[in-house]
Amino acid sequence: MSNRMESRAGEPLKPMQRPEGNGSRDREAARGPGLNEATVQQIYAELLRRIGEDPERDGLIETPRRMAEAMAFLTRGYRQTVKDVLHGALFDVDYDEMVMVRDIEVYSMCEHHLLPFFGKAHIAYIPSGKVVGLSKLPRMVDVFSRRLQVQERLTQQIAEAVEDSIHPQGVGVVIEAQHLCMMMRGVEKQSSLTVTSSMRGVFKTQQQTRNEFLSLVHAQK
Ligand SMILES: [Zn+2]
Repeated sequence: MSNRMESRAGEPLKPMQRPEGNGSRDREAARGPGLNEATVQQIYAELLRRIGEDPERDGLIETPRRMAEAMAFLTRGYRQTVKDVLHGALFDVDYDEMVMVRDIEVYSMCEHHLLPFFGKAHIAYIPSGKVVGLSKLPRMVDVFSRRLQVQERLTQQIAEAVEDSIHPQGVGVVIEAQHLCMMMRGVEKQSSLTVTSSMRGVFKTQQQTRNEFLSLVHAQK
């Protein structure tokens, strides 16, 4: 850590990039001098100082390293693609009834606060000659959930990925999640569940198909 960074330790924590600041000049200013050369670990150590902590004390000495590793893990979706994850696990079938995998665990981070949101995803589709290996659907979810997300976009991206992979007659995705940014920040929504859905193809056009899917989502576990 350079002396220059330490001398700024007393300043209040500033956002790295304001969401409303779209100009490149804003971005340049937000990045600050010298940060390009700092390691993620150094940035986290500085962050600990800014919130009033001492990153040198016993309990925190390894924390910047752990934070850097955790962040890399929680955002590993940026370094994965659906194609890699599927790895050719697509199979030809005559079956044309609904295929559903429900209660897929989802862990993601909201892009507004970098706080976790987590819950369950339910994915169904009606094949049109091809199915995905069942174990691949949870891994497809991970590709998109292990990024900074909003729940609505995550839901859409999963539906799109299924659509693009096997071109089914239709696909439906429902995600039910709890957001720590609502629960921890005193927004008084301690137990609320955010539910999002994306319906494509026959799941959008045929009410009967959509209802079948939704009744399976809500069926007793
Ligand atoms: Zn949030």
